[in-house]
Amino acid sequence: MAKIEAVYGVLEPNMSFVDLHIHGIDDDGRLDIPRMVYTAVDRGLSGIGVTLHNNYPFGVRAYDFVERNNVLAKSGKPFKAFPGSEVPARRKDGTDAHVLVYEADVGPYQTIAATLEEAERKDGFTIIPHPDGDVEGAMSMDEILETGIPANIEVYNASTHHMFLLKRLNLLRKLRGEKLVDKNKIALQNYRDNQHRLGAATGGTDAHKFKLGLGMTGFKGDNLREALTQKRTVAVRRREFEIWYPRDLRIHDRKIEAMNEQNDLRYNGGLVEFPLTGTVFEEVG
Ligand SMILES: [Zn+2]
Ligand SMILES: [Zn+2]
Repeated sequence: MAKIEAVYGVLEPNMSFVDLHIHGIDDDGRLDIPRMVYTAVDRGLSGIGVTLHNNYPFGVRAYDFVERNNVLAKSGKPFKAFPGSEVPARRKDGTDAHVLVYEADVGPYQTIAATLEEAERKDGFTIIPHPDGDVEGAMSMDEILETGIPANIEVYNASTHHMFLLKRLNLLRKLRGEKLVDKNKIALQNYRDNQHRLGAATGGTDAHKFKLGLGMTGFKGDNLREALTQKRTVAVRRREFEIWYPRDLRIHDRKIEAMNEQNDLRYNGGLVEFPLTGTVFEEVG
């Protein structure tokens, strides 16, 4: 495996590595299911979390694909796909807050707490992606703590890291004297400071192109859920980069546009009553 390093926790021999934040061809990502699965196998991963925006069925299809084809990891053990979705919760001000939900189909546009609770009720598990990030859908640590739920935290998000590197290369920003902050570092520090009120630390790629495993979650044994519950995970970074060409950005923008149009139709076009559930904007507790 390429050079990897622990961002949080300690690497040990014989660990399993999974990438729990991957987008795909049906949202603003580029990977179809076979390519997603076999790229992950090639790169030595034991499993993936398939997390398209508000799209659980795609994750289920990936899971079915892996089971049907008896896909094995390089270790010879069965490769695992965790069906999931990056669920948009909604704040009172109308903005979205993303929650990664696995092994449970959870509805969009509920409060953050209600989203986490529905996942728990349906026996799923959750991770808060890109905390304190400057991407759409990022939550602040205060918001996360406010839920009172000991949430798992993605302390390393490779996309956030790569955006930071790209911005650093931008001469114009330098000339303007713009001060750049590494949001992953802030996330990690906030996690360390509030660890007793939070769950496990994880890493993910937030893959929108073709590379996987740039951010990973490491753990001993075969039981990811147990490792998360026991807070025995390691957040891992792979020292590798994926270049975004102008064409990739154009494709990405187009896909986001199409996705938003679809959502408007689905949730605002009179087909489905909005908001979707009674828990939206209500204080739960
Ligand atoms: Zn997100
Ligand atoms: Zn994402």
